[in-house]
Amino acid sequence: KSGGRNRAVVYEERMNEVLQLQRTIESELREALRQSDQLSVEFQPLMSQPNGDIGGAEALARWLHPKYGKISPAKFIPVAENSGLIEDLGEFVLRRACEMGAQWPGRTIAVNISPTQLRNPTFATRVFDILHQTGMRATDLELEITESILLDDEHVSSQNLRTFRSSGIHIALDDFGTGYSSLSYLRRYPVDRIKIDRSFVSQLSKGHASVAIVQAIISLAHAMDIEITAEGVETEEQAEILIQLGSNTLQGYLFSRPVPADEIARIFADPGSG
Ligand code: C2E
Ligand code: CA
Ligand code: CA
Ligand code: CA
Repeated sequence: KSGGRNRAVVYEERMNEVLQLQRTIESELREALRQSDQLSVEFQPLMSQPNGDIGGAEALARWLHPKYGKISPAKFIPVAENSGLIEDLGEFVLRRACEMGAQWPGRTIAVNISPTQLRNPTFATRVFDILHQTGMRATDLELEITESILLDDEHVSSQNLRTFRSSGIHIALDDFGTGYSSLSYLRRYPVDRIKIDRSFVSQLSKGHASVAIVQAIISLAHAMDIEITAEGVETEEQAEILIQLGSNTLQGYLFSRPVPADEIARIFADPGSG
C-alpha cells in the first residue's frame, strides 16, 4: 500500500519536473523571439518525380540556445502551441521562407502551419501581407496542415483554407496516416497534396504489407487529383518502390537533410552538385 503511495509521489514529482521544463522552454522561447538570432529556418529539398529535379523545399524551424545548444522542434513546437507563441514563431518562419522563395520563382516552398494559426481570422491577411512584402508568388507557397484540422468544425479554418486556395496557395495535408486519416474529410477540406508519413515509408520493403497500403493511398489520392509526397525516404529501396507506385515528390535523408538558407540556395542554383 505504501508502495502505491510512493509511486504516486514519484509520479507527482515527475509531473512537476515536466511542467517546470515546459515553463522554462516557454520563457526562453519568448526571449528568443524577441532577439531572434537564436532562431533560424532550415530547408529540406523536395525531389520531383519522374524527372528528379529539386522542385522546392520544406521550411523547418531551428533553435540554437546560447546555453542549452540545439533544441529540437519536437520539444519547442508543442510548447509554442500551448502558450500561444506559435503565432509569432510561425510568422517568423513564414517570413524567412517567403524571403527565400521570392529569390527562386517556380520553386515550391512548403511551410508548416499550426491549427492555432489557421483558426485566427486575421491569418490569411497576414500571409498575403508577407507575400506582398517579400515579393514571393502565392503559387509558389504551400502550407502544410495536419490532419487534426480536418476534424475541426471551425468555420474560420475552412474559410482560411478556401481563401488560400482561391489565391493559388497550395495546401498539403501533413503526416497522413498518423491520425484519424480518412480521405472522406477531403470533400469538406479540399487539399492539393497529401504527405505520407515517415512511419509508413520506413516500413516499405518489397513484399511488405505497407506497400499495399501506400499503393491504395496513392491511387485514391490520384483519383481525387491530389498529389503525393512521401516523407522520411532513407533508402534506395524505399525510393524505388515509391517511384514505382507513382509518388510525385520524395523527401528524406536519402536526398538531403534540412540545410541552412545559403546551402539550399546553392542546391537550387546547381542541383547536380547538391
Ligand atoms: P514534419 O513537418 O513532419 O517535418 C519533417 C521532419 O522529419 C523534420 O524534423 C525533418 O528533419 C525530419 N526528416 C526529414 N527527412 C527525414 C528522414 O529521412 N528520416 C528521419 N528520421 N527524419 C527525417 P524536424 O525538423 O525535427 O521537425 C519536427 C516537426 O516539428 C515537424 O515535423 C513539424 O511538425 C514541426 N515543425 C518544425 N518546424 C515547424 C514550424 O515552423 N511550424 C510548425 N507549426 N511546426 C514545425
Ligand atoms: Ca511538414
Ligand atoms: Ca510531415
Ligand atoms: Ca512526420
